Amino acid sequence: MAQLGAKMWRVRNAGGLTSTPTCSTRAHGSRCVLVRAAGGKRESARTSSLDTSPGVDKSSSGSGNDAFGSGGAEELFASSGTDCVHKGERKGRPRIKDALTTPIVQTSTYWFEDTEELIEYQEGRYQSYEYGRYGNPTVRVCEEKIAELEKAEECLVSSSGMNTATTMLLALVPQHGHIITTTDCYRRTRQFIQTFLADKMNVTATVLDPSDLEGLERALKENDVTLYFSESPTNPYLRCIDVPTVSRLCRENGAISVVDGTFATPVNQKPLELGADLVISSGTKYMAGHNDVLCGYIAGSKELVGQVKHMQNILGGVMDPHAGYLLLRGMKTLELRIARQNETAMRMALALQDHPRVKVVHYPGLPSHPDHENAKNQMRGYGGVVSFEVDGDLWQTAKVIDSVRLPYIAPSLGGVESLIEQPTVVSYWDQPAETRAEIGIKDSLIRYACGIENFEDLWADLKQALDGF
Ligand code: PLP
Repeated sequence: MAQLGAKMWRVRNAGGLTSTPTCSTRAHGSRCVLVRAAGGKRESARTSSLDTSPGVDKSSSGSGNDAFGSGGAEELFASSGTDCVHKGERKGRPRIKDALTTPIVQTSTYWFEDTEELIEYQEGRYQSYEYGRYGNPTVRVCEEKIAELEKAEECLVSSSGMNTATTMLLALVPQHGHIITTTDCYRRTRQFIQTFLADKMNVTATVLDPSDLEGLERALKENDVTLYFSESPTNPYLRCIDVPTVSRLCRENGAISVVDGTFATPVNQKPLELGADLVISSGTKYMAGHNDVLCGYIAGSKELVGQVKHMQNILGGVMDPHAGYLLLRGMKTLELRIARQNETAMRMALALQDHPRVKVVHYPGLPSHPDHENAKNQMRGYGGVVSFEVDGDLWQTAKVIDSVRLPYIAPSLGGVESLIEQPTVVSYWDQPAETRAEIGIKDSLIRYACGIENFEDLWADLKQALDGF
């Protein structure tokens, strides 16, 4: 069926076929199932609003008792199959308005009253998500919250950051097109560009140092560039592109500018306000913030996000509503967590700088960082990740990692638990040393993603590891 326009996504709260929405509120927990559509007939989003009156509807909650009340065993078995499927739900589905938290609407499809309603939907006069691959009310709440945070017209959430990036590239870059990317980049994104886009779609790419504005101007002039894509800050060296200048140059040359803002989040940086056309993010990291869910999002104009949504409707990398609930809950504390992680990382970077066994600290908050000026001009805080190089080889560096006791040795970042990794071992172990050198991944590099633990504890732990290798 046709792509849903933005208007179509904004629909009633609990129109799914299967679900009595899961209500995770604790305050007034019982009240979350107290409200139901009057008369047991399905409400039309066109005509009715949610019943707000509190109180248990006895006819609804008692409907499952019919088979058990008056009849004998035969009657019970004759009706129970249908009853199991429909009783308590088909008529008198609870409609939730007063639950404090956003319900998880666990449905894969949405039903229509009759053919007339379905045709009204097809002709844009009735709103529905229609099917789970085209939308979900719980996930939609995430999208609306993120759109506000990113100052975007529209947002589309998906099942992972990589799903968002690949769907966006497939939607916006044509066959034989040309894109521009930057050198320091999440490995899987680079892989997708170099293998799938290049080999299967004949897309060519110019790869630039994040600060190379002259190279950018030249590449824009010499090629018919569809799209510019860079992380900012980048992974793992935390390079920060000059978003306003990059965006202006792209706009002047008809290219779409896309910033992967995973490491910053909209609390620290709003790429759209700085001029970028689109911001994408691995919500898995800071946005969800608890190392317990995968998700991604893209935000920007209705027009561009709509094109990506059209592709997602086909490819199907949608977010599960349970994951949506976790993302929503995580985002409630985003600002608090980011403030803490910004502060801890800054203190960590300063302390590391003074340690005799540390050769270089990569943190955009330090004046020594090559992109400190960019970061200062466009970020509210410098983020929770610090990368640093120790005075040792691969195995001495591994010894530092193995000697810390507080952070987990794990990929990822942005959660409440601190994580530590040696990029050579975690992400590039299958690559020969020459390839690692080409990409700029040094064996002595450590990436430390601060959680929300106390700085003093984290530093005492890291210091003993550095003192002892
Ligand atoms: N973008 C950046 C900057 C990342 O660091 C990552 C993952 O580490 C991704 C995108 C991919 O996100 P996900 O793991 O949610 O697919």
